[in-house]
Amino acid sequence: MAKNEQFVSQIADIETDFPQWYTDVVLKTQLVDYGPVKGTMVIRPYGYAIWENIQKEMDARFKAAGVENAYFPLLIPMSFMTKEAEHVEGFAPEVAVVTHAGGEKLQEPLAVRPTSETIIGHMMGKWVESWRDLPLRMNQWCNVMRWEKTTRPFLRTSEFLWQEGHSVYATGEEAEQETLNMLHLYEDFAKKVLCMPVLTGRKTEKEKFAGAVATYGMEAMMHDGKSLQSGTTHYMGQNFAKAFNVQFTDKDGSLKYGYTMSYGASTRLIGAIIMTHGDGRGLVLPPPVAPVQVVIVPIAQKKEGVLEACKALETMLKQAGLRVRLDDSDNSPGWKFNEWEMKGVPVRIELGPRDIENGVMTVFRRDTCEKGELPLQNAAEAVKGLLAELSEALYKKAEKRMNERIVSANSLEELLEGVNGGNFVKAGWCGCRECEDRVKEYAQATARVMAKENTADQCVVCGKPSVHTVFFARAY
Ligand code: ZN
Repeated sequence: MAKNEQFVSQIADIETDFPQWYTDVVLKTQLVDYGPVKGTMVIRPYGYAIWENIQKEMDARFKAAGVENAYFPLLIPMSFMTKEAEHVEGFAPEVAVVTHAGGEKLQEPLAVRPTSETIIGHMMGKWVESWRDLPLRMNQWCNVMRWEKTTRPFLRTSEFLWQEGHSVYATGEEAEQETLNMLHLYEDFAKKVLCMPVLTGRKTEKEKFAGAVATYGMEAMMHDGKSLQSGTTHYMGQNFAKAFNVQFTDKDGSLKYGYTMSYGASTRLIGAIIMTHGDGRGLVLPPPVAPVQVVIVPIAQKKEGVLEACKALETMLKQAGLRVRLDDSDNSPGWKFNEWEMKGVPVRIELGPRDIENGVMTVFRRDTCEKGELPLQNAAEAVKGLLAELSEALYKKAEKRMNERIVSANSLEELLEGVNGGNFVKAGWCGCRECEDRVKEYAQATARVMAKENTADQCVVCGKPSVHTVFFARAY
């Protein structure tokens, strides 16, 4: 027991010091380490395996939706960045620029991509000629760089990994529809793969992507009640098409500009998982993305037959397609329990001489920390069923917390009280920038997304008639 306590005490208390809890968890479970350049992170194998599972699941969904993968260069001519006025203004403070290479000063400086609308717009301008070329729907998995002053692993780092999808359509209606379709794809992904409930909706003008006509986002509630933007989709209208001359000859022979849209989700999703499901013992990973879904811990592993039985079980579970680890190291079972609990493995199986004799296995669920017993016969089916049940329970638990923590406010004081209490606050808004800025100043909260319908009477700030009902929250 002493060893157990010592182990757990390595992580800060989740309720009283959530920021330190987060830092302890990401470092001690070996998801990441800090890179030598300030603001960069090294994604270690255990963290990268989560990203690979996210990629695999999301990529399959994009492909099923008809999107193809491509790859565009890391370096973008600076002249591209300045072609769309809002875009350059929005990204200027964050862009890293290459001025020298090959021992010489470059004639034109090169931007390290903060996002690829410009270079992809340029190539679309080259590739799109006729209505027959449309729609053109591409995605790339890559790294981007945005110079940040304050950074936190997965949440905000200078370099991060993501996917960025870019499409061009003949009509604005189609491009807008795709913007909503991709938002829905993200929402469904969050629910089914990350077991994470989200709020989706349109962003305010202030919060939209630089250069977009409309931005939509999905926001997830973290353990401390703050919001984490977990994916965004943007309708660009003809802004980028005009800047990069993306023109096509339509069926009637006339020359028209296309309509573009883009969408992105990043390694932030790993931060979202950690802060949605984690608890006092550490990580709690959703089974669909957990690098290890089941860990087998032998009890009295030196006794005859124990390791053999564990290995047979491991083989059986692996053959059923599960990600399994048999921990036959020299550490004590208690040490192993703590280690794998902290690392968030959804299901632990303990197998000792008595279990084997009785034809059962002891099963520990990471989400509830409850132990039970399952028959060894048809173990794979039983474990699969348990993992599905656990995924569902994780979602339900997070959904309940989010629903309980959405409150309404009719005044700035109520709004402040709401966000101080770790809630999302639903309130009316007149639509003006001054009132949105006032909320930020008064309550350090921002408009996360607008509700689909306006159900409020008055603006929470000025009292004028409400035009949009907004979800306000403090955000990462
Ligand atoms: Zn107002």
